[in-house]
Amino acid sequence: MALAIDALATVRISSEKMTGTRPTWAEVSRSRLVHNFDVLRSLAGPDTELLTVVKANAYGHGLEPCARVLASSGARWFGVTSVDEGVALRQVCPESRILIMAGIWEGEAETAIEHNLTPVVWEARHLDWLQAAAKRRNTRAGQVPVHLEVDTGMSRQGVAPEAIEELARRIDAQSPLRLEALMTHFYSPEDVEETRTQVNRYLSAAEALLPGKISWDLMSAGSSANLMYRSGLETVLGDAARTLRARRMIRPGIALYGYSPLPATPEWMQLREENGVRDHGIRPVLAWKTRVVTLREIPAGRTVGYGATFQAKRPTRVALLPVGYADGLNRLLSNRGSVLVRGQRAPIAGRISMDHTTVDVTGVAGVAVGDEVVLIGEQGQEKITADDVAEMVETISYEVLCDIVPRVPRVMVD
Ligand SMILES: *Cc1c(COP(=O)(O)O)cnc(C)c1O
Repeated sequence: MALAIDALATVRISSEKMTGTRPTWAEVSRSRLVHNFDVLRSLAGPDTELLTVVKANAYGHGLEPCARVLASSGARWFGVTSVDEGVALRQVCPESRILIMAGIWEGEAETAIEHNLTPVVWEARHLDWLQAAAKRRNTRAGQVPVHLEVDTGMSRQGVAPEAIEELARRIDAQSPLRLEALMTHFYSPEDVEETRTQVNRYLSAAEALLPGKISWDLMSAGSSANLMYRSGLETVLGDAARTLRARRMIRPGIALYGYSPLPATPEWMQLREENGVRDHGIRPVLAWKTRVVTLREIPAGRTVGYGATFQAKRPTRVALLPVGYADGLNRLLSNRGSVLVRGQRAPIAGRISMDHTTVDVTGVAGVAVGDEVVLIGEQGQEKITADDVAEMVETISYEVLCDIVPRVPRVMVD
């Protein structure tokens, strides 16, 4: 119990606004978040429940402020990873449904029930923990909804289709638990054939669920890709839902924040084009900014930063930015990435340090101490997206966004 209380205290501290004075911050656009949500809402159509995924601090955008905005725009369901996140979210969204997508761990069942969080379950012990906790709380039959995940090929979470019947039998009429949704997750949601295979496994699991004895009504399947790349996929999922007479739930994450689930590399862009994939006008929500805090002129031949990996070829103007890899600026951007200042690109010069980054501003006229610098976002005619950064450091926009650490304050704008 002491452990649980400590965990809660930690949540509260880490979710408190850190509005420091250090000039490095992330701006989160309320209007773009609402716009993206509206786009996804209309792609989903009126009969599909949208579960907006706000795990990992809303993909780095700030859990509580984003959830507040989404809830007031009509979002009814939220997806988080942990009970800790669920408890933090419950403070700002008292009426929303909150799905704990990564399930619960030992000792968390009571907190989950107390805060009306809905866990994903796939193992007998999840049910044991929840049933025992519900009993301690004198919960009536069917009062605790759960979403049962079936593993259709991701091999991450979920019960095998063959084992689902035995597991589901334990949620009987006397149980305090109620099966609300049968959930699965697609590993290649952009691929119609792979998804069809997974949907077939899903259907076989659904058929095993003792028709008529255990009822559930939500088919929870699909993420951003299933909304954005609709053509063939939509037919596959829609057909499955009709076969099961289930209501649909789709769980978009990255698209809410304005990015496509597919990388923006040339080969993927070509694939997108071939498949008629559009971005439906979604726009990046986050801009990461800092300021020039010091300027210096160095002569040709002088080096910059640890390991002297940058050597000036000409008299060079170096601007210092108060941001480093401890803020989540990937060190692989050293001598590779660039930033925007005075509407122009300035290359990162030398190694990114823990708390410092140096950029070569020789080619940008008039740079002054205090100038706003964009690490991710738009300035003048230029822009740097999380996809651009991701391509340079060989990852995906998701990681670039959630790498921005909590000490970088998130500021809601417009
Ligand atoms: C992260 C996640 C999503 C959202 O995926 P996006 O590609 O960001 O839309 C949906 N469902 C589950 C289970 C997830 O873990």
